[in-house]
Amino acid sequence: MLVLVINSGSSSLKYQLRELADDGTDAPVPVLAQGLVERIGVPGSGVPDHAAALEQVEAELAEATGGRTIDAAGHRVVHGGERFTAPARVTNEVIRAIERLAPLAPLHNPAAAQGLRAMAERWPDMPQVVVFDTSFHQTMPREAWQYALPDEVYTEHGIRRYGFPRPRPPPPPPPPPGGTSHDLVTGLAAEHLGIPRGEFRAVVLHLGNGASATAIRDGVSVDTSMGYTPLAGLVMGTRSGDLDPSVVTHLMRNHGYDAEELDTLMNRRSGLLGLAGEADMRQVLENAASGDGRARNALDVASYRLAKYVGGYHVAVGGAQAIVFTAGIGENSAPFRARVLDRLGALGVAYDAEANRARVAGPHTISAPESAIPVLVVPTDEEQAIARLTWELAR
Ligand code: ADP
Repeated sequence: MLVLVINSGSSSLKYQLRELADDGTDAPVPVLAQGLVERIGVPGSGVPDHAAALEQVEAELAEATGGRTIDAAGHRVVHGGERFTAPARVTNEVIRAIERLAPLAPLHNPAAAQGLRAMAERWPDMPQVVVFDTSFHQTMPREAWQYALPDEVYTEHGIRRYGFPRPRPPPPPPPPPGGTSHDLVTGLAAEHLGIPRGEFRAVVLHLGNGASATAIRDGVSVDTSMGYTPLAGLVMGTRSGDLDPSVVTHLMRNHGYDAEELDTLMNRRSGLLGLAGEADMRQVLENAASGDGRARNALDVASYRLAKYVGGYHVAVGGAQAIVFTAGIGENSAPFRARVLDRLGALGVAYDAEANRARVAGPHTISAPESAIPVLVVPTDEEQAIARLTWELAR
């Protein structure tokens, strides 16, 4: 089965054409084509909207498919709110529901909805599936998702930590194959250590432009660092992560910020960009290495925050059996991993500097033999996870 995986950002569209075997696993050559259209909607870029971006993609796909029809498309959507606890087949109503969730993921959901509409117009007969980042966290217990606000703020306005929908009985272990990056990586890490997935306790650190830590107990998510929106938690490329909410009211009251400006400040101008003047970790590391004090400070703030989350989640899971790094920074940035691991000595974590620096393709261990908690690097493959869930719904 040919599955087109689409990840629409506010001004970009990433795609992969994947081939799955009849049982939903990767075909021998799973990725037939992949690419990225950038600067969508940027004046002068020649790509006015997502529909124009798809036109570009279509030309590239025609060659890769060799005339075969694409069987289905799978889209990554960040926020499924309370409504979407599992992947869904796309209808007009589903697209509208994703748009209505825009306040919860202002950087992501509107772009995803545009991508979905453009696809439906261009290929009206191709089944489309949406896969939500939030659905993996449906297993979080109430103690983890509830804010200590008056109850009606939750019951009337739906304000609480997401990544989770309404309380439901935990799914029977083992969870279905595929899923989000955290899900995929959890399974691979358990397998690497030879621990049954249903008994696995871990802290998974997904560190990309967006970043989150997830506490895994009995193989499922019991806590995650993002909150009501993907703004909370860790220091990210352009997002601040955790803040005292009084900062917001203070800036409004005394410095003339309105809601839009605050959204922009916290989502697009903060994080590494705000602290170091660069959102890209590679650049921040380079600047720090050449003596830039702001870059060094940004690395300190980011690694300190992350280490605190690891400590907290070690408690949340009842003693982690693994700390797992994944995604762009987690997989590739040995210096950043080292900065985090240096702070985890109090948990008995010890890493092997050479193993940390080595480039290894699959899941591998970077902790020293005496480390109280094994530390792993596990490459993620979000497109594969999305393709598999799409295959399940579309076959
Ligand atoms: P997302 O999928 O959230 O957009 P990625 O998982 O692709 O993001 O991660 C992007 C981040 O990974 C960027 O900050 C980039 O600098 C960082 N990154 C990628 N390769 C390396 C590397 N070799 N060393 C350090 N950081 C890297």
